[in-house]
Amino acid sequence: MSDESAPPEPTFKSAIEGIHWPAVPAPSAASLMAILLQLERDQWLPAAEIERRQRQQLRALLLHAQKSVPYYRKKLAPIAKQLETGALTPELWAEVPLLQRADIQGADQRLMSRALPRQHGKVSQTFTSGSTGKPVAVRHSQLFVLFWRAVTLRNHLWHKRDFGGSLAMIRGRSAGAGYPDGKQAENWGVPKAAGIETGPLFQLDINCSPAEQVDFLIRKAPSYLITHPTNLDRLARHSLEADLKVPSLREVLTVAEVLSPETRHVTEKAWGCRVADMYTARDLGYLALQCPEQEHYHVQSETILVEVLDEKGRPCAPGEVGRIIATPLQEFSMPLIRYDFGDHAEVGPPCPCGRGLPVLTRILGRKQQMLSLPNGEKRWTLHSAGPLDDLVGLGVTQYQVIQKSLSRLEVRVAVSHPLSEQQEAALRGWIAEHYGDTFEIALSYHDEIPRTAEGKYFDFMSEVAD
Ligand SMILES: [Zn+2]
Repeated sequence: MSDESAPPEPTFKSAIEGIHWPAVPAPSAASLMAILLQLERDQWLPAAEIERRQRQQLRALLLHAQKSVPYYRKKLAPIAKQLETGALTPELWAEVPLLQRADIQGADQRLMSRALPRQHGKVSQTFTSGSTGKPVAVRHSQLFVLFWRAVTLRNHLWHKRDFGGSLAMIRGRSAGAGYPDGKQAENWGVPKAAGIETGPLFQLDINCSPAEQVDFLIRKAPSYLITHPTNLDRLARHSLEADLKVPSLREVLTVAEVLSPETRHVTEKAWGCRVADMYTARDLGYLALQCPEQEHYHVQSETILVEVLDEKGRPCAPGEVGRIIATPLQEFSMPLIRYDFGDHAEVGPPCPCGRGLPVLTRILGRKQQMLSLPNGEKRWTLHSAGPLDDLVGLGVTQYQVIQKSLSRLEVRVAVSHPLSEQQEAALRGWIAEHYGDTFEIALSYHDEIPRTAEGKYFDFMSEVAD
């Protein structure tokens, strides 16, 4: 269970020879700490004040984009005059067109600023592939990375992590991080950039088997583990079956996929530790972090505007699910303004913790993860505890459903032992019960269902076009 007591205070490393106390950080670390100090303070502002400050920053972003980004020159021209002379009103903002994934692919170099202020630093390129479709190239300035790091640190502070502890990272495929030893680094990375000393980092390739991963965790005895939810689910289930504990673990951090309530539950049952989720996208940075006191999420409004819109393009009210439109506030090298990148979430009411940051109750993932019914309706396919236990009971260790058409599902499973005729019939029954009984089911058996190149795993994917 979570430990509510305060962790030891972080230890700072001085960048100046002969000065040990108080430590004097390097200039880059000082910038990071100054941003963090503001994040710590401003999260308690009333929601309306956070929105006001956000609009000031958005206005600066829009003016920059209109002047220096070819793609936006015409697109933002209708509101340019009003923007230059006045504030960014919600009405004006509503006139800003949405940006689709295909727009980014089509615009290519035209989305890059021709006049990036020098203080934003060097620009690097990264690719995102998502679950389907062509890769998209996005660019991040050093300034964007600075804010990304500040939110990483905020996450550690919110959840009262002990920087002196060790961190195990089991994410994508990492070269030289195979079983049994993985790869070791001296520190966690980001806190070091702020001049904070940390314990070591242990890395292991996510494609190692659950048995190898749990063995690695027992031997390395990390204080924290960061991994993908679907991987965590397998590790926790393996630990329960094999009756293995990882007593050193205080908390598990999850990232990169949708975290189901069932995975939280099975982790607490297996290891007795809580899970803190974060919601990020490689092209956008952090969108939201789990509240330190609740299981829902707070939008990181100081670095990104997150709009949740219904089918008619209106903002969703608490309790409603809509698509997410995101605008990173400080990325000037390749501004992504009102980016409709395909994710969905449920809006929540203000949080009892008192933070003014907006609440997302659930993150639902991509449109491609919605099942299309024969009548054209779509629905989410996230399963709760009972149904998943039924699958495990049949001997299914992994499953993946791919919707090929409105009438056909391809179902891949990995099993712990060959299924009897009766068990296979029960499996087919399970699929019909949870996806619909009109689908033709093509069932195939696999030793292991692989992850994507980014280490992600989707238990459902649709190839049905909109
Ligand atoms: Zn909260």
